[in-house]
Amino acid sequence: MTIKAYSIEGNGTFAQDVPAFAAAIKGAGADIVLVPGVSRAKRSMPAAAMRAGAAIDTNVVAVQAEGEKLTVQRWAYRQRILTTFTRAARPWVILVDPSLFGDICAQLGVTPEAMPSGAAVETRTTVNGVVAAGKGGESTIKPDSPLLFVAGAGWTKKQADGQSHAADAESIILQFLDKSQASLGSTKSLVDMSGEGNAVLSFMTHLNQVGQTGSTPRHPKGLSTCCHGEEPHVVGWRFIKERRAVNIDANCGWARGKADVLYVADAFAVMAKVNELLCK
Ligand SMILES: Cc1cc2nc3c(=O)[nH]c(=O)nc-3n(C[C@H](O)[C@H](O)[C@H](O)COP(=O)(O)OP(=O)(O)OC[C@H]3O[C@@H](n4cnc5c(N)ncnc54)[C@H](O)[C@@H]3O)c2cc1C
Repeated sequence: MTIKAYSIEGNGTFAQDVPAFAAAIKGAGADIVLVPGVSRAKRSMPAAAMRAGAAIDTNVVAVQAEGEKLTVQRWAYRQRILTTFTRAARPWVILVDPSLFGDICAQLGVTPEAMPSGAAVETRTTVNGVVAAGKGGESTIKPDSPLLFVAGAGWTKKQADGQSHAADAESIILQFLDKSQASLGSTKSLVDMSGEGNAVLSFMTHLNQVGQTGSTPRHPKGLSTCCHGEEPHVVGWRFIKERRAVNIDANCGWARGKADVLYVADAFAVMAKVNELLCK
């Protein structure tokens, strides 16, 4: 059984990537093609695999090789059931969790090569360039970012002076996201607030909600601010290994073993200082 691994860097369009990836799968001549499941691969690799006559599985978190047999694991039912399975089809393209790609390649003894690009594009569309991810100002959810930044309802609640400071909160958070390129997460309390006459953050939507009834992102690090750290929210952090939180309440949920570090401090002051340092 031959295994080939490709790393994927940078941006690409579906029209350009599908023929290039399909050519790479065919050209690899391998039984198994391992690729990190970054958003670019998730967008184009399934269509490329279909063109190349390959089977494909995504969101794989473990790969085990035994002789000619390969088994993989992936979560199902919103991370409640871990499934183990194999396929007879070859070639088999496997998109592994990006944070585990290096470990899985090392465990299988394969060294990733850069994914070849530049295959002839069969389209009448001329691509003049690619807008860098996040530069449009509209996308706050960045699955490939190393950092998840969670903003909780505290950002819009009354502060020590008896007033809420939503406008300040917006500008501090947006400045931090711009400087750090972190992905923005939120709590149910904050995203549910809109439409009820509360102070809201204009860029926050239900898509940002992390937790039991929200998403379960996979960033390596997380920073929670003005969020209480209740279990239905923190359950969405199960894949985030390094966790820090800023809360004025020393008895909040993060203090009960849910964060590695809790800064008992005013998040407005802390994040303004962080922004100042990032601007230097
Ligand atoms: C069935 C069910 C499903 C749920 N699913 C989800 C889910 O998917 N995701 C989710 O998030 N929640 C979920 N919840 C709700 C969850 O239980 C909490 O109510 C919610 O997470 C609380 O949001 P919060 O921490 O932002 O708000 P709050 O509980 O209001 O906490 C605000 C925090 O901000 C702090 N704060 C205020 N000002 C400052 C400041 N200046 N500096 C620092 N800290 C400050 C306060 O000390 C407080 O801890 C669910 C609940 C149920 C019952």
